[in-house]
Amino acid sequence: GYRARSAYKLQQLDETANLFDDGDTVVDLGAAPGGWLQVAAEEVGPQGKVVGVDLQRIDDLDAHQVSTIPGDMTEEETRDRLRRELGGSEADVVISDMAPNMTGEYELDHARSVHLARTAYETATEFLKPGGDFVAKVFQGKDLDDLEADIEESFQYVRRVDPDASRDSSSEVYLVAKGFTTAPVATGD
Ligand code: SAM
Repeated sequence: GYRARSAYKLQQLDETANLFDDGDTVVDLGAAPGGWLQVAAEEVGPQGKVVGVDLQRIDDLDAHQVSTIPGDMTEEETRDRLRRELGGSEADVVISDMAPNMTGEYELDHARSVHLARTAYETATEFLKPGGDFVAKVFQGKDLDDLEADIEESFQYVRRVDPDASRDSSSEVYLVAKGFTTAPVATGD
């Protein structure tokens, strides 16, 4: 079995958007307790590599292709550790299920979620190889359109996918970006 029900969401995202291939290198942000790591490890197979990052400790998985890094993805030090773990190789797929601790205050939870998704986007533009794919969870709200438009600049296309659509559920949605083209140009402002 999987460590988290969210594993089925990643399977559905993969079925919808064809994210993983044999031998892929995958970066999984907000990976604890490890359901997505399990699914990604299965999908990339024994020749693949999966690196998970989370604030929370992740119990070891019995899949040799998985490694984990404890840390806050908004901190440069964590990105340095990820860079070292990848050892100079690029990622085929960057996935983020990062979510803030919910306060119940809708605007604040949305803003924090967008911030985490932007962090994931920056990480993706650093580590993805051309043609790579990116997925990020975000809570719906007023800044979602801007976020999606920004991500669109670096990929062939972006779509919104709600793998929980059948459940009467949350405000979360996944931005699925296919075909990394280029990192956004820094404007300096
Ligand atoms: N995809 C995971 C799975 O299948 O097991 C579930 C992820 S859970 C919904 C969201 C995770 O994001 C939490 O474990 C939380 O610790 C992590 N997270 C939130 N903010 C983070 C940050 N700044 N850096 C790293 N991880 C973060």
